[in-house]
Amino acid sequence: MKILVLNSGSSTQKSALFELGPQLSPDPIPPLWEGKLEWDGNKETLVVKNSAGKKIRTDGELGAGDRTGSVEKLLQHLWTGPTAIVKTATEVNAIGHRIVHGGAKLTEPTRVTTEVRQAIADVASIAPLHNQVGLQGIDLATKLFPNTPQFVVFDTGFHRTLPDEAKIYAGPYSWYEQGIRRYGFHGINHEYCAHRAAQLLGRELPSLKIVTCHLGNGCSLAAIDGGKSIDTTMGFTPLEGLVMGTRGGSMDPGILVHLLRTGSSADGLDNILNRQSGLLGVSGLSSDMRDIVQAMKNGNEKAKLAFDIFIHRLCSCIAAMAASLQGLDVLVFTAGIGENSSEVRSAACARLGFLGISLNQGKNAGVRSDTEISLGDSRVRVLVIRAQEDWSIAQTCIRLLAKET
Ligand code: ADP
Repeated sequence: MKILVLNSGSSTQKSALFELGPQLSPDPIPPLWEGKLEWDGNKETLVVKNSAGKKIRTDGELGAGDRTGSVEKLLQHLWTGPTAIVKTATEVNAIGHRIVHGGAKLTEPTRVTTEVRQAIADVASIAPLHNQVGLQGIDLATKLFPNTPQFVVFDTGFHRTLPDEAKIYAGPYSWYEQGIRRYGFHGINHEYCAHRAAQLLGRELPSLKIVTCHLGNGCSLAAIDGGKSIDTTMGFTPLEGLVMGTRGGSMDPGILVHLLRTGSSADGLDNILNRQSGLLGVSGLSSDMRDIVQAMKNGNEKAKLAFDIFIHRLCSCIAAMAASLQGLDVLVFTAGIGENSSEVRSAACARLGFLGISLNQGKNAGVRSDTEISLGDSRVRVLVIRAQEDWSIAQTCIRLLAKET
């Protein structure tokens, strides 16, 4: 089976083609073909590679509003040019889409139908940056692969098991009735990491209390009890919780009221909260943890402050997740920062010794993904696990296809 995954982000479009057998595989396998578009303002970078080592990269300009045109060109590299991996589009057996927000109704992965498409559009007002691009991906796939089944997997879905006390904000109860509640995000990877952690440790998932730290451009934690998400740091939108590259995470909402009363507009605040805060906002330098760590090592005080705030919030929230779990067996670091920044892992774990966490500094410094980095006598096992969202979505497609036949 050839499964195409479209992972549509606000400033990136990732896509991957997997060849999978009908059985679910216990270990992730690399894709046959990968394509990525990245936009920085109007500057567009395209990178496509196949498993035979063919790779192309082009830099260009995004035509006004023409993201769909760019994504169509990207997908044509599946069957044309040096990176071609199939003869025609009809060779693709199924397409899986990552959709950020499923709202209250869409939680389980499902086949795309007119009703499902409409339900995704209906929650787009909550996550406008993300759901619109997901819908564009569905519409483009319908045009290029008219007879191929499409499935959607929701980033909010894994958190459908949050208990009421973790899900409902302590505002007026009518908010909850209007859908204003905590949803949580990054669920595809949090769920995958919990399963992978149990597999790597040779333990049964139902017996484990796990905190997964998804630290990428966006950052969130999940408290996972016996395989179920019972608490998480992101909420109604992906703005709540941890400090991130350009988002500041939780803040006193009184600040926003104050700024609105003193001349800021809703759009202006939206821009500040989503694009001008977090590591970038504090350091004035960069949203990329690599730049922050480098500048900190070179004596830049603002970079050090941004790093310290990031770690302070991360540790407070890990402890909060452990409190929700009433215990902790496994701590997982995943995604760009979690997998690559030994400095972040080391600084966080140094403060969390009281929870029973002892890091093996040697292993932490030289880590490869999907390994344990805690000392043999650490009560809490600490793991680094590579995020595999696309592979997880492809596996879900196989599972849903099998159910349909
Ligand atoms: P996304 O959330 O967009 O999927 P990633 O999970 O790829 O992003 O994470 C991207 C972030 O990972 C970058 O912004 C950068 O801060 C961080 N990162 C990547 N490599 C390293 C590294 N070697 N050291 C520290 N941070 C890194």
